[in-house]
Amino acid sequence: MFKPKAIFFEKNIQEYELGKQLLEKYKEVPKIEIENHNNIEEMRNKSNKEFIDMKRNLIIGVRKTHKFVENHKTSDYLVPYTSSGCTAACMYCYLVCNYNKCSYLRIFVNREEMMEKIIRTSEKSEKELTFEIGSNSDLILENTITGNLPWTIENFKNSKKGKLTFPTKFDMVEDLLNIDHQGKVIIRMSVNPELIINKVEFGTSRLRKRIEAINKLKEAGYKVGILIAPVILVDNWKTLYTELIKQLSMQLTENVKRDLFFEIIFMTYSYVHTKINEQAFPDAINLYDKEMMTGRGKGKYMYKKDIRNEAEIFLRQQMNKYFPKNEIKYVV
Ligand code: SF4
Repeated sequence: MFKPKAIFFEKNIQEYELGKQLLEKYKEVPKIEIENHNNIEEMRNKSNKEFIDMKRNLIIGVRKTHKFVENHKTSDYLVPYTSSGCTAACMYCYLVCNYNKCSYLRIFVNREEMMEKIIRTSEKSEKELTFEIGSNSDLILENTITGNLPWTIENFKNSKKGKLTFPTKFDMVEDLLNIDHQGKVIIRMSVNPELIINKVEFGTSRLRKRIEAINKLKEAGYKVGILIAPVILVDNWKTLYTELIKQLSMQLTENVKRDLFFEIIFMTYSYVHTKINEQAFPDAINLYDKEMMTGRGKGKYMYKKDIRNEAEIFLRQQMNKYFPKNEIKYVV
C-alpha cells in the first residue's frame, strides 16, 4: 500500500469532497501547500538520481484542463480524468515527458465536474461513444488511494449512452468485482513477459497476478482486452513473447477468450528516458539500442521500419497460432 512521504496540495482541494477525504486519510503525512500542481519548484530542482524518491510524494490539486482529444483506436476520445502520473516506474513510461513535471502521481479532486462533462458529451452524441479515461495514469493503482473507480462506475452507469475504458498494469481489482456496471466499462490489461516486467516495469504487478485479475473481471461481467505493450525487442524477444502468448492462452479462462480483443504496441523511447534511467537506475538494462532504433521527431526513438515489420509478422503468426479467433484491433 502506497504511503506518501509528503503531500503537496493546492489549498482549494478542501472545497471538494474527495479533497477533504484525502486530507483526513493522510492527516499524519507532512504537507506542503502549493500554488499550482503544474509547477512545483521543489520538484523541478531535483536531480535525475532522485527520480524514485520524488515519486514517493503525492500531489493533490484541481484539474483545470478538460479538453477531450479525439482518438481512433479503442476509444473515441482521450479524456483527462482524475489522475496523472504514477507511483510505479516503468523505464519507458510515456508519462515521463518531462520528469520533474508530470511523472509523479497527481490526483485531481474535482471528479464531479469531469464526470458531468463525460456524461453530457456522451448523451449529446448521436453515436455511442467510448471514453478512454486512463491515458494519463493507471486508474487501478490510483483507486487504491482514492477509491475513485467504484465512484466512477456507479456514477456513469445511469448515463443513457456511452462506455468508459482504461488500461492497467495492476491486479488490485477486488473493489470492482461487485459493482453494477451495466456492461459500460471495458478494462484492458497491459502485459509483458515476466522477465521484462521484472527488469523494466518497476513497481507494477506480476504477470500471473495480472492474468488472474483479468479472469476475475470477466467473471464480474466486464468486457476485457489485452494490450501486449510495449513490445521491447530485447535479445531473446522471440522466445519471451512466444512464451507470453502461450501462457496467456493457457491461463486465461475460456470465458475471457470467448470475446477477448488484443492491442499490440511497440516501444518508443526518448532522450529524456535515457538520461533519467542511466542516473535513476544505473544497474538496469539499457532500452536504447542504436542498431535497432531510429529517430522519430525531436529526441524520440522508435524501432527501424524493417525490424519492426519483421517483428509484427512474427507476433501475428504467434497470435494466429494461440488466439486464432480473437481480434487484434491494431499493431502500432
Ligand atoms: S504503470 Fe503505467 S503509468 Fe505507471 S509508470 Fe508504468 S507505464 Fe507509467
